[in-house]
Amino acid sequence: MPDVYNWQLGRKMQYPHREAHPRSQFAFVFNTNRCIACQTCTMACKSTWTFSKGQEYMWWNNVETKPYGGYPQSWDVKLLAMLDAAHAKAGREPAWGEAKAGSAATPYGTYDGLTIFEAARTADQRGEVAVGYEPTDEEWRFPNFYEDAATGSRDQRASHNLAPATLPEHATWFFYMQRLCNHCTYPACLAACPRGAIYKRPEDGIVLIDQGRCRGYRKCVAGCPYKKPMFRSTTRVSEKCIACYPRIEGQDPLTAGKPMETRCMSACVGKIRLQGLVRIGEDGGWAEDRSNPLYFLVKVEKVALPLYPQFGTEPNGYYIPPRWVPRAYLRQMFGPGADAAVERYTHPSRELLAVLQLFRASQTIVYRYEIVEGKKVFEATIDGRKWEMFDDTVIGFDKDGREVARVAVEEPKFERPAKHYNSI
Ligand code: SF4
Ligand code: SF4
Ligand code: SF4
Repeated sequence: MPDVYNWQLGRKMQYPHREAHPRSQFAFVFNTNRCIACQTCTMACKSTWTFSKGQEYMWWNNVETKPYGGYPQSWDVKLLAMLDAAHAKAGREPAWGEAKAGSAATPYGTYDGLTIFEAARTADQRGEVAVGYEPTDEEWRFPNFYEDAATGSRDQRASHNLAPATLPEHATWFFYMQRLCNHCTYPACLAACPRGAIYKRPEDGIVLIDQGRCRGYRKCVAGCPYKKPMFRSTTRVSEKCIACYPRIEGQDPLTAGKPMETRCMSACVGKIRLQGLVRIGEDGGWAEDRSNPLYFLVKVEKVALPLYPQFGTEPNGYYIPPRWVPRAYLRQMFGPGADAAVERYTHPSRELLAVLQLFRASQTIVYRYEIVEGKKVFEATIDGRKWEMFDDTVIGFDKDGREVARVAVEEPKFERPAKHYNSI
């Protein structure tokens, strides 16, 4: 297998295809702290793309309750167990080495362990390009299995701890995990397809299945560690999230030719989602673009982290971790950057607080932001540290530099005039 550079792992890794990169990459940041699990995103996708015969069980976007929920059931627990078995067989213990301070090439350190591609050479899956499995019909059956189910207390797993919840870690906890295809840099679905039916678009990095070439072997379903390709029994080919590409291309009349956020992103009630496109540099990594909000959140502030980076597909979905969840769980899920990300979110910098206001401020994709400073409106002590809040205004600009969003940190208040009281 050729060697390719995976910046999330801070090292080269084996991948079945030679390294190639798009000119820009579809990417998104989700703030798990704000999701209310209303499933509006899920239904926005369902009612747009998967409402037909044979698609009944398909949820390209889903929101599951962690730690017990998963669609398909236990997808990540199973994958992690397969990786564990491969490490045991190879006599290795996966670990992350220290990050070189400020290094863009190794922001989370170096992963010293096997990815799903490398593990396939040691596991009992010779002939497959990645460790994986095809979920059963039963596992696909309940998209919101274990909804709102919390963990037990530390001492008695079966009983809930009814003591008041306190930070930094709640004793009894759950959180909502929003998921769709990550339009990975090194897609396992693409690598696993024997028909060459899956491709990554050079203009925006969106990963698509060519419905004409697909023969329904379901290798992509088994290969994708996130379990996001799905088999359609009526057409006997596989389907997956298409990143609402007509919107990304600016074909939706609502934004008059400007690239627009996808259905699941722009419908989000909790304002947890921000999606856009990042420029890819000569070296295949994200080109420096300090005023792109995604670049700022992922590369500068490092408050948003990839989901299971150890899988090795370099996913392009990033998550601000939930601040009340035990850190060991977050480290396993988001890698070694989890502690620092929670810390930064808990004491947001002035710039971070402003950029967080851009979430769901516009349906048009924001390519650049500016901040106009405002006055100090609040101060507090958080975890023994003084913290100040400023009423700054963040302004978002579209691809052509036109303003599409303007939001202040303090929400404006309007007082109803006294003469209107009880006038309804
Ligand atoms: S998340 Fe899965 S389906 Fe989507 S690009 Fe990555 S490997 Fe392919
Ligand atoms: S990006 Fe579009 S196709 Fe993909 S999950 Fe969201 S709504 Fe569905
Ligand atoms: S619409 Fe937003 S808040 Fe509602 S479930 Fe989806 S991600 Fe969460």
